[in-house]
Amino acid sequence: MTASSAINLILPSFNNVLKLVVLFLGKIIVMKNYFILLFLVSNFTFANDIYWSKTGHRVVGEVAEQHLTKKAKRAIEDLLEGESLAAVANFADEIKSDRAYRKFSAWHYVNIPFGKIYAEIEKNEYGDLVQGVNTCIEVIKDENSSKEDKAFYLKFLVHLIGDLHQPMHVGRAEDKGGNDVQLQWFGKGTNLHRVWDSNMIDENGMSFTELATEYPEMSKQQIKFLQSGSLLDWVEESHLLAEQVYASVETGEKLSYRYSYDWWHTVEDQLQKGGVRLAAVLNETFK
Ligand SMILES: [Zn+2]
Repeated sequence: MTASSAINLILPSFNNVLKLVVLFLGKIIVMKNYFILLFLVSNFTFANDIYWSKTGHRVVGEVAEQHLTKKAKRAIEDLLEGESLAAVANFADEIKSDRAYRKFSAWHYVNIPFGKIYAEIEKNEYGDLVQGVNTCIEVIKDENSSKEDKAFYLKFLVHLIGDLHQPMHVGRAEDKGGNDVQLQWFGKGTNLHRVWDSNMIDENGMSFTELATEYPEMSKQQIKFLQSGSLLDWVEESHLLAEQVYASVETGEKLSYRYSYDWWHTVEDQLQKGGVRLAAVLNETFK
């Protein structure tokens, strides 16, 4: 075990508790099984790598809350029974490990080759981020949908608009949105997707409420500008940003403070944009 994986063990996330349990079991079983278990643990870790950090999604929810119309606010309060958008922002990731919800896993991203736009690509038969967002809106607007379904798809929508603004969720298929671009983050193995999902946000150390409230007040025009455009325009914008993000590293590169210094403002911008646009989508959906 390396020093960094030992540090990893003391972090109180579900995955690490799981690792502790599995490692403990591994110790009391013969060595051969121990290695099989280690292999399983590494796969669990991978499963956890493929989404925007919990903090990032909560910031998007919290910022959106500040820009809702009264009508949307009331409808959302009713559907979520008082839970905030930040509180439900990670729901779509939390249900990922449940087999019953496997069919939604392709909704978290959309892969587009560079030089192409969404309209030109062959669509994923299991769905994608764009189809996911549109389905959520349809179900919520449908008068015949049950309250339970509306709440489910509302939670999903909050999450997906967040994913849409993480450029690596709109990256290339061949490297799984940067998951196969191996890097080091402060001496520890990571990949480009994870740097953008969580490494930079977690390194920053601010809570989601701190992040969501530190933005300078925006004028009506600024808000309008951010909210302008269609869903496909926003996809295209993230896709162009993804191109810059790919170009920002070489495979195997050792990243640390300098990378955050260069890109942190972009992360903040994306989270804010995600929130302001989520509000636009919800205001329109509940109008
Ligand atoms: Zn996601």
